[in-house]
Amino acid sequence: MTRKTRVRFAPSPTGPLHMGGVRTALYNYLFAKQRGGDFIIRIEDTDSQRFVPGAEKYIIEALNWCGIVPDEGVDAEGNVVETASERHPHAPYRQSQRKPIYRKYAEELVEKGFAYYAFDTAEELGAKRAEMESAGQTFIYGQTTRMGLRNSLSMPEAEWKELLETRTDWTIRFKMPENRVVKMDDLIRGHVEVNTSTLDDKVLWKRADELPTYHLANIVDDHLMEITEVIRGEEWLPSLPLHYLLYEAFGWTETQPRFAHLSLLLKPDGKGKLSKRDGDRLGFPVFPLRWVNAEGEVSRGYREDGYFPEAFVNLLAMLGWNPGTEQELFTLEELVETFSLERVVKSGARFNADKAKWYNKEYLRKKSVEELTDLYIPVLEEHGITGVSREYVSKVVALIQERATFVADFWDIASYLFVAPVTFVEKDAAKFWKEENYTLALKVADFIMNFEGEFTKENLEGPLEEFIRSNEWPMGKVMNCLRLALVGASSGLGIADIVTLIGKDEFARRIEYIKATLK
Ligand code: GLU
Repeated sequence: MTRKTRVRFAPSPTGPLHMGGVRTALYNYLFAKQRGGDFIIRIEDTDSQRFVPGAEKYIIEALNWCGIVPDEGVDAEGNVVETASERHPHAPYRQSQRKPIYRKYAEELVEKGFAYYAFDTAEELGAKRAEMESAGQTFIYGQTTRMGLRNSLSMPEAEWKELLETRTDWTIRFKMPENRVVKMDDLIRGHVEVNTSTLDDKVLWKRADELPTYHLANIVDDHLMEITEVIRGEEWLPSLPLHYLLYEAFGWTETQPRFAHLSLLLKPDGKGKLSKRDGDRLGFPVFPLRWVNAEGEVSRGYREDGYFPEAFVNLLAMLGWNPGTEQELFTLEELVETFSLERVVKSGARFNADKAKWYNKEYLRKKSVEELTDLYIPVLEEHGITGVSREYVSKVVALIQERATFVADFWDIASYLFVAPVTFVEKDAAKFWKEENYTLALKVADFIMNFEGEFTKENLEGPLEEFIRSNEWPMGKVMNCLRLALVGASSGLGIADIVTLIGKDEFARRIEYIKATLK
């Protein structure tokens, strides 16, 4: 029987979503959409100690920004769905709200002999650990130690049954089988085998808060939600034997999902995992959106740094996957068509900040002048520029679009098209504003002021250059004098472009100003 593809992204709201997490969500989404399947969001919030307020909202907002829209788990307003409906049959999708579901599954495992009750207090476990460590051994709660600890395997039945009633701090632990070779298949890594002899007896459920741990909740929910593939980060690979054994213990191997573990994103130098600190140190974001933690510390985000979501999605897709062709630019739809787990690389993907910028520049180039104008107007307002016509802003945008990586660059590239320079770059002034140059430049300025044709770049540019050439004046020096007057520096757009945009009156004002200031 072929089942409908159903995958899930299952973040724990323990902080902002790292860009590696967004990539995991993206690969799940692409995989599901390509197969006409469902992409589900499930919030794994059973660890109340690590719960961070605002993290869930952040995660959903980040995915929305990327256009990674779930079929189940989150409604149109971006709220995690709490009540089951036709569209969200498995609600609630927050594990803390599914609390009553898990206990019976944990107890079922005890009844079948795959798990047991454990009564050791934190102090008792601490003492045991210290004792073994002082003898040079490491402590794990498992096959070599469990019979010397306080649990339903080591204690007389009457005794542990009483503790079960009277105490509220016991746990249910998985009884890791001894010396078994667990044979696993990973869609990216291939066949993997692990011997259980080194694995511990993980806690599955805790009486204290009546909550499951990650392992139990994850397997039970993947089963109940009919998940067909689990695509997640490689940090979960060590848990895979336990997960296989849990499916087996429950008798769910027939419908057990297939697994794919994604490699980490690596630092730009390839040495180790890409961390928040690398971002701070090397000046690039590692989070999709800006995040302010409880201490008020700010982490920059791709969105706030001016990246387009399409560029961010594209660059993320290419970190660890390649299409097998030279093509680098993909829309989300094209990614849905082209993506395949077979072409996801086993080794870690090295992050390259320059390449990230390259993607944004490419997307900026492809945007319409209209859209960029919409984005630039608020930036201008932030710089105090109001009352400029939209038509004027569009002309500026068209002129500088090719030179920018981010919309914010527009201001740095050509703020002088909105405000006259008040100072002049000293080095440039010293080099070009010399009497032998500026007397000529002022004559050129007169030529421009007296230009009689329609005042457009196309009309002005040729005659202007011809005028300078026919007089055999030094073109570069003369132009740079004018540029100094118009830009405040000797670099910038072409003179004909600038003067036709700012107009003759403003041009004349800037010439008068530089004469009064530098002469
Ligand atoms: N809650 C886990 C996490 O935050 C999910 C791991 C999984 O996908 O199984 O990574």
